[in-house]
Amino acid sequence: MGIVVKKVDLTWLDRTYLWPIAKGLSITLTHFLKQLITPTKKRRTVQYPDMKRPVLDGYRGLHELKRHDDNSVKCVACYMCAEACPARCITIEAEDIGDLNIHQGLIEKRPVVFQIDLLRCIFCGMCQEACPKDAIWLRKNYELSCKSRAEMRLGKFDLMNTYAVEDRKSRVNRDPNNPTFFKQ
Ligand code: SF4
Ligand code: SF4
Repeated sequence: MGIVVKKVDLTWLDRTYLWPIAKGLSITLTHFLKQLITPTKKRRTVQYPDMKRPVLDGYRGLHELKRHDDNSVKCVACYMCAEACPARCITIEAEDIGDLNIHQGLIEKRPVVFQIDLLRCIFCGMCQEACPKDAIWLRKNYELSCKSRAEMRLGKFDLMNTYAVEDRKSRVNRDPNNPTFFKQ
């Protein structure tokens, strides 16, 4: 069924177009003056980056690839996250490891390459949901900027270090047992 839209008849004052402009400007000016006399903490305008609004629980920001206590990666290269990812932005290459590790137990595989293309990622959190090892988390960092597209493709060690400063952890740069781990 069609909807009849009521025609608004303009008064002669409206037809000057000056009155509506003056009305609009007075509203803007009122808000501006209100902001000036409002204490900084109560202002709606956030002076980013000096001020930051707290991030809500459940916010899905930059990923972290979790580590064990010995700084080895928790991921067992099962590809579940890559399969679940709707944006197809996770690239994993696995390698076999047969060692019985005191921290990890018997692990058969680990990622030699683990890469996320953040330009394609939609931060849906499906990778976190799909991970059987609780090895990938989306945490609260939303300050993602870069100077080139390549910088937005984070590798295994980038992802292991994303929250190192915040968590006061040492940065992981390479696997001491395998110097070729830079291949990512
Ligand atoms: S957050 Fe979503 S889109 Fe981004 S890597 Fe994880 S599953 Fe893929
Ligand atoms: S992050 Fe989790 S789901 Fe993805 S490959 Fe590693 S263990 Fe599997």
